[in-house]
Amino acid sequence: MATNRTFTMIKPDATEKNYIGGILKMINDAGFRIVSMKYTKLTKEQAGAFYEVHKERPFYGELVDYMSSGPIVAAILEKDNAVADFRTLIGATDPTKAAEGTIRKIYAESIAANAVHGSDSDENAAIEGNFFFSALERF
Ligand code: GDP
Repeated sequence: MATNRTFTMIKPDATEKNYIGGILKMINDAGFRIVSMKYTKLTKEQAGAFYEVHKERPFYGELVDYMSSGPIVAAILEKDNAVADFRTLIGATDPTKAAEGTIRKIYAESIAANAVHGSDSDENAAIEGNFFFSALERF
């Protein structure tokens, strides 16, 4: 069910620092099941398309450059109340404001290079999952 799924990326700062294993362990330990997963690298065009909703924000160019700067892990995750529970698990956008024990508090280096993405609504979770995975890969 779409309402029980969210979409995440482990971002370039975290893959570069070998945090993939630690972050996936936190995700599994919090009760999320991995539905689909992919290790890949976005082109600037792809990162620009993914973050199209942020086009008018002042940091859009920086965000696109950063998200295409290195490999990422994209995944669809499943759990009751997935979107909200995952946002709680990752913590605030700015790691200095993230709660203790959250993924961003532990692994993020800055508001821009903040280790993980988490969808902010069921609708965006479906759109973002579909961006990376075909119907055959979303079982
Ligand atoms: P999120 O939903 O917590 O990921 O936060 P937003 O939707 O507000 O922003 C999307 C992404 O843009 C964040 O996860 C950051 O990677 C990046 N971002 C947010 N604020 C800033 C900023 O002030 N500067 C830069 N360079 N990037 C930012």
